[in-house]
Formats: sequence, C-alpha cells, structure tokens
Amino acid sequence: MTGGYVYSVCEHYTIYDVAELIKNAAKLRLNDGYNFKRNKNEGKPERKPMAKRLSKAKQKELAHEFAIRLNKYFPQARCALDYDGDPFKLAIAVLLSAQTTDKGVNKVTPLLWERYPDAHALANADFAEVEQIIKPIGFYHVKALNIINCARLIDEKFGGKVPQTHEELQSLPGIGRKSANVILNEAFGISEGIAVDTHIFRIAHRLGLSDANDALATEKDLLKVFEKEYWGNINRQGVLFGRETCIARSPKCGTCFFADLCPSKR
Ligand code: SF4
Repeated sequence: MTGGYVYSVCEHYTIYDVAELIKNAAKLRLNDGYNFKRNKNEGKPERKPMAKRLSKAKQKELAHEFAIRLNKYFPQARCALDYDGDPFKLAIAVLLSAQTTDKGVNKVTPLLWERYPDAHALANADFAEVEQIIKPIGFYHVKALNIINCARLIDEKFGGKVPQTHEELQSLPGIGRKSANVILNEAFGISEGIAVDTHIFRIAHRLGLSDANDALATEKDLLKVFEKEYWGNINRQGVLFGRETCIARSPKCGTCFFADLCPSKR
C-alpha cells in the first residue's frame, strides 16, 4: 500500500489518526501470509523439524498422499467467504477478512454489496457509511480505506475488473501474495501458487514438507513437492483440516486420517 492511497481518503484525519491507520494497516498485512512471523504457539513443529530429515522424494510421496486424502475427506471444500461468484466481491471480502473470521465478514458484506455492488460504486462510497457497515469486524478505519482505495484502483486502472495476475493484484492496497493466490484460484481458477496461511504453514511443518521460517519460503517448498494439479485445493481443504483435526494447540492425531504417515503424530 502506498502512502498516497492512505492520504487520499483520510484527508480529514489528524496526523495521529493517519499514524494509527498506517500502524493498523501493517497489522492487517501480517495476516496476508507473506509478512506474518511465526507465532510461538502456531506453526512450530511440536517435535523435531522433520523437513530437514526427509528426502525430497519422501516429501513428494507424502505430499501426493496427503493431497489424495484431502480430496477424499474434503471433496466439496469451498471458500468460506460469500461472494456470489463475483471476483470483485471476493477481493473485497478477502481484504475484510484480515484479523477476523470469515463468518464475521459474511455478516457485513450483504449490506455492503447492497449499498455498493461494484467497483465503481464502492470507489465513490461514503467513507463514514462504509466504516459503519464494516464496524463489527474490527479495524474498520483501515479496512474502509483499503477497500475503497482498492475499488478505486480497480475502477480506474483496470476498468472495473479484478486483474488476473499476481503482479497486478499485489499492486492493490492490502493485497499480498496470499490474498492474490486466493483470489486467482477462487475467482479465476488460476493456480500459480499455494496460499500459505497459519493453517497451511502449521500443517506443512508438521508433515515435514517445509522447515522454512516464513510463509513465502514455505510456499516455495510446497510448490516443489505438491503436483500442480493439487495447488488449487491445498488451501481450502487444508484450512478445514487445520481447523477440525490438525489444530494448533492440540492436534487430534487419534482420529487423523494422516496419522499413519505423519512424522509429527502424537
Ligand atoms: S497426525 Fe494428523 S493431526 Fe496429528 S500432527 Fe499429524 S497431521 Fe496433524
């Protein structure tokens, strides 16, 4: 996000407000995978960093089997954000989802879409009204800024259509590599990466598929071991698996479908 975009919308803010907005924007970007730091409770392999001891061939074998089983257990996995099949709504919902739940986002977006159904409408939105609509999900100042500025860029630079390349998507305010991966995959069926959020990061380390310290390096590792045909599903299925079974604090290894192969099984 450039300073120019921040200031263009918040002319009525004091310098202190702007500083707070920038600070909050930085916090929100932590949620976009490629800037987040390892939390002491999440993502850490509970035992040994198995990736160092697994050969690439073994990692590929594990990844292949994991992808097959994910398909079996989560055949209907879908994006938890409601977006009516509209890439613009998805992009905005993804922006709103930083530091909150998808459920929470789904509660505020119906009114947002009713008032501002497309990029042009949101680009010209009433800032205070947008803040009020999205207030329940938190960080509403900076999120309102981000979504209005994002809509403005999409409207002015991309003719109202969400762009379909990593580079262009990441030129939009608040969108980093993880969000771009989600949008490309969900909205356009383009799999050029694997969105590494906190669940995928944790699972990748527990399975010994990566020992990288950050999400970008973890994604690079995963792209080397998963066959491309599985890239698109890894995030949406892995998130369900991470929420239901391979939970951060207490993984349910006793009922896990991958326990027979997992190097971190407890
Ligand atoms: S056995 Fe399953 S739940 Fe337990 S750590 Fe491994 S993948 Fe996670």
